[in-house]
Amino acid sequence: MLPLPLEQLAEQLRLLPGVGKKTALKYAFRVLELSDEQAQNLLATIAEVRSNIVSCVICHHISESDLCSICANTSRDDSQICVVEDARDVLAFERAGSFKGLYHVLGGVISPMDGIGPDKLNISSLLGRLDEVSEIIVATNPTVEGEATAMYLTKLLAPRGITVTRLAYGLPAGSDLEYADEVTLARAIEGRRSL
Ligand SMILES: [Zn+2]
Repeated sequence: MLPLPLEQLAEQLRLLPGVGKKTALKYAFRVLELSDEQAQNLLATIAEVRSNIVSCVICHHISESDLCSICANTSRDDSQICVVEDARDVLAFERAGSFKGLYHVLGGVISPMDGIGPDKLNISSLLGRLDEVSEIIVATNPTVEGEATAMYLTKLLAPRGITVTRLAYGLPAGSDLEYADEVTLARAIEGRRSL
């Protein structure tokens, strides 16, 4: 009973996280109500994000050029790399403002249940960055998969003489770093412990 294009739009919108059938339909109808100009702007903005946002060639953070603004900043401390799951975690730490080192975005966590092994993550590129590095701070989320990934990285890095530390969690177990407040995140990084 729903016109096919509208149904297809709702189906596409369900690709977004947290959007179920009902919400997708609500959004699809809202798109229908947009003015031509608003709809064009939305399309153009999506296209622009797709073509202009790339992954930093060093750390895999989102970037508008080959090097992200953090890797390009020569005043950052290149002896420390904070390893995170995704770009939103970098943004969270940058908002907290207490970390002055560099980052490495894994692009996920090891999760055998979902068929994600270490080979699917940006780990080999991390191993290629260790020359100047004395400490790797593993800042994966405090979930089962995040902990397993931290253990994997520790086993990989410790024999290379690199100190591997983990965030001190005043962060609740199972929580998402991205939603931690700035004070909690700043404390978590200051109170990090050796693995
Ligand atoms: Zn970068």
